[in-house]
Amino acid sequence: MEQNNTATVRDVIVIGSGPAGYTAALYLARANFKPLVIAGALSAGGELMSTTLVENFPGFPDGIQGPDLMEAMRAQAKKFGAEIEYDDVTSIDLSHDIKIITTDSGTTYSCRAVIIATGSTYRKLGAPGEKEYAGKGVSYCATCDGFFFRDKKIVVLGGGDSAMTDADFLSRYGSSVTVIHRRDTFRASQILVDRAQENSKIDLLMNTIVTEICGDGEKVTGLKLKNTVTGEESELATDALFVAIGSEPQTAFLAGQIDCDHGYIVTEGSSTQTNLTGVFAAGDVADPIYRQAISAAGMGCRAALDAQHYLAN
Ligand code: NAP
Repeated sequence: MEQNNTATVRDVIVIGSGPAGYTAALYLARANFKPLVIAGALSAGGELMSTTLVENFPGFPDGIQGPDLMEAMRAQAKKFGAEIEYDDVTSIDLSHDIKIITTDSGTTYSCRAVIIATGSTYRKLGAPGEKEYAGKGVSYCATCDGFFFRDKKIVVLGGGDSAMTDADFLSRYGSSVTVIHRRDTFRASQILVDRAQENSKIDLLMNTIVTEICGDGEKVTGLKLKNTVTGEESELATDALFVAIGSEPQTAFLAGQIDCDHGYIVTEGSSTQTNLTGVFAAGDVADPIYRQAISAAGMGCRAALDAQHYLAN
């Protein structure tokens, strides 16, 4: 049933419910701004809901399951008065001081400040075996999972800055790191390519695509490859495939109203302010580099403080 809630102008609405969204909501709630979190109908909690053990979020020496961490963040924000709606934003009008937000259920809200914390999703390869072996050798986060592949053979797929920084990082763990890229030149900045070329543990395999991820049912054992120039097919034994082929910030509902760079929302300097007054961004939707739960949570805190400052003035 359609509902028009625009008669009540709220102070602030947080869109998204990963570590950035819930942290922003916690800070705003404790400051008595009574934030509404539009958490997503199916995606509430974000990427960590499909993660198993998180070992690098401070405060949990034995690690914590991703869904448990997100439930704790949700409960903490709610305890201090954050209101949470499990709905998706379908459109938004940010052109005036009062922002209008419409959701999939047909509800319309109005508010003075908005924090966008909708995250991003890792781009998937789409090859056979990718889904089956996700978390069993197929990974999208070198910082999170590199540790599990000490002295193992590692492959990194991609030719951008992420692939190069992942390869460099993973060379500290793996016995070898092979970077596989589909073209004959890298998209990555030259300094990162030079560093990879100088690293004796890293091999660069160009003009090559992964056509299948193979395993023994329990874990990844190798890859089927195809040369994009000669068409020649081959196999490569590996224990891990780190897919670093970019990610897709979730900004479609913004319909081009906010300045973005490579899809990521641009924020001003060290603040979380976007190019629009009263609109702030936090977490992976605005962070092409760090993309960690803890850095997203930190940015959520900063967005809440920036929004509070804006509302107070
Ligand atoms: P990206 O720049 O979009 O690069 C993605 C790479 O994956 C490209 O080389 C692309 O190949 C390849 N690719 C895409 N789809 C593929 C597919 N289906 N199969 C095989 N290969 C595929 O993404 P990114 O590396 O994640 O970087 C995103 C942004 O973050 C960039 O602005 C980057 O500069 C920034 N970043 C910076 C740092 C840093 O330390 N400064 C670190 C990480 C990221 P093609 O080249 O053929 O298109």
